[in-house]
Amino acid sequence: MKCVVQFSGGKDSLATLLWAVEHFGKNVIAVFCDTKWEHDLTYQHVKEVIEKLGVELVTLTGKQSFVGLAKAKKRFPSTKARFCTEELKVKPFIDWVLDQKDNLLICQGIRKDESLARSKMQDSCTFFRYYFEPYKIDKAGRKRYHTYRKKEVVEFCSKWAQDIIRPIFEWTAKQVFDYIKKQGFEPNPLYMLGFKRVGCFPCIMCTHGELKEIAQSFPETLHKLKDAEVEVGRSFFPPGYIPKRSCSNRQFPTVPEAVNYVDHDRSLSIFEPETCKSFYSLCE
Ligand code: SF4
Repeated sequence: MKCVVQFSGGKDSLATLLWAVEHFGKNVIAVFCDTKWEHDLTYQHVKEVIEKLGVELVTLTGKQSFVGLAKAKKRFPSTKARFCTEELKVKPFIDWVLDQKDNLLICQGIRKDESLARSKMQDSCTFFRYYFEPYKIDKAGRKRYHTYRKKEVVEFCSKWAQDIIRPIFEWTAKQVFDYIKKQGFEPNPLYMLGFKRVGCFPCIMCTHGELKEIAQSFPETLHKLKDAEVEVGRSFFPPGYIPKRSCSNRQFPTVPEAVNYVDHDRSLSIFEPETCKSFYSLCE
């Protein structure tokens, strides 16, 4: 059996990786899906954690990078069209799983207090569950199933186990940080700079506070965003990201317009230097 941890470089997957090593030893495989749109600090953090733990790291990339995918789709992903997760993380991981030809125990760093959707999940299940039971019933009353590489998935499941466990499902964010520290590790430094989530940099779900922090701490990211917009030929931020009156085209903001708006948004004062920058109050 192979014990696999989906490791994103975020705190929850780090705690899960440390938990897996504590319980199963070094015979654990960390799988990192590289969207080619992560922060350098995340790449560095992943490398350091893996070196210190001495476990195997598998880095997966989709058929395209984040920008390549947006170019092919002629648009950036958005909360309503979140094809990035599926193309850059879900499908590459399924492809890797199907290549394993072994029983798998997959450890996921999902916590129930992260969101309403996650609170409805369980602390264990199977990876290909929604190929065999519906994940939802649509408005027309049809049962909807996952379908990507279905034939191979069915064949895989007839031979191999694909169990999921979520060891930190009941944990709070504070418990996660405490556990990481107790194990002698540090979370991704991006948390200390005020970022609530760690993943693509920036993520298409980037909050105003995070954009303000990016502009202040990582201004070079704004150049990366502008270059990507030129390459894709569309704006990164969707209509409605800031009020239309603050957009020169009255529809969607350019990068400078979005930055200018969040810079003048007084409600974001939580990110002022005199307060703890970390969303999780990590500065003690
Ligand atoms: S981190 Fe954000 S941008 Fe990256 S794949 Fe996930 S939702 Fe998409």
